[in-house]
Amino acid sequence: MSIADAGLTPAEIAQSTVTPAKPQLPPGVVTEGPLVQAKLRESYLLLGILYVGAVAGIIWAITQGVGKVELFTFAWMFALTTFGIGAGMHRLFVHRSFRTGPIMRVFFCAIAQMAVQGSIAKWVANHRRHHLYADDVGDPHSPQFDGFGNRYVSAFKGFLHAQGSWVFDQATTDNEYYAKDILADPIAMFFVRTRWVWYGMSAVFIPGVVGYTFGGVHSMIGCVLFSGLLRAYLLILTSQLTGSVCHAYGYRRFEVDDASTNEFVTTILTFGEGLHNNHHRFPRDAYISHAWWEIDLNGLIILGMEKIGLVHDVFHASHRQLELASEADAQAATTAR
Ligand SMILES: [Zn+2]
Ligand SMILES: [Zn+2]
Repeated sequence: MSIADAGLTPAEIAQSTVTPAKPQLPPGVVTEGPLVQAKLRESYLLLGILYVGAVAGIIWAITQGVGKVELFTFAWMFALTTFGIGAGMHRLFVHRSFRTGPIMRVFFCAIAQMAVQGSIAKWVANHRRHHLYADDVGDPHSPQFDGFGNRYVSAFKGFLHAQGSWVFDQATTDNEYYAKDILADPIAMFFVRTRWVWYGMSAVFIPGVVGYTFGGVHSMIGCVLFSGLLRAYLLILTSQLTGSVCHAYGYRRFEVDDASTNEFVTTILTFGEGLHNNHHRFPRDAYISHAWWEIDLNGLIILGMEKIGLVHDVFHASHRQLELASEADAQAATTAR
């Protein structure tokens, strides 16, 4: 039976024959082949282990209870890896907000990989793409567009994509395109190659050794499940809040082109990363608070490290003035044209 036979109006026939144009993804986005397979392998393996471990951690805490050793290990390891992802992975490796000597670079690489959120190269590449195409076609984890550039109709589905399911989609970022500097850095690449060792150190070995040393075998199991695996999974959830909550809810200090916001709870949980609208406006700032009540703990620690000489060339607000001036010059030049 032809369409004409089905009794459709000419408008309906036209609609039925027009296929919507596929969104054009920007360069550096890969949607098939070995890079996609590698992404999916790592996502399923890593998150599979963490899901099982996190559930086991909750069951252990309920049935066996957790004592001081487990709670203390949870707290300091959560703090260390939150700083690792925020100050190390994000501000140092992605945005180059400050510089370090080789020993501190090793330290920041270690704590960044210990956050158990993929390799430094992949994280950097994804996040640079996020800034370049924030809340537009090409953003790897926007609540508004999926990995292929299709707009979300459901705000809830968009939120879930940004909060975590983007790591399971068939789109990935080409590290060669977005993270050439990391690929050329022998220190960072050593940690990229040995990342599973650092995942294991963070989620299993260090909490296990601390638990055994201070509380014996029972504490060792409690520390691995509760302070290691559950904590690593919770850290992924809090980190992703900057991509989901901070691109949908909260307040905006700056009217930028994307939907980024500052949000109080995320700011506390991530040690400052929730000041995400400030960050999208001035991505290179090492300290991203713009008011006394915007508490940027990661930034304060970086400033403290600068004072005692552990890091240097910290990108301050004074540099930002220069950035603003050059932006104004560029705008004036465009207007004059
Ligand atoms: Zn963002
Ligand atoms: Zn950023």
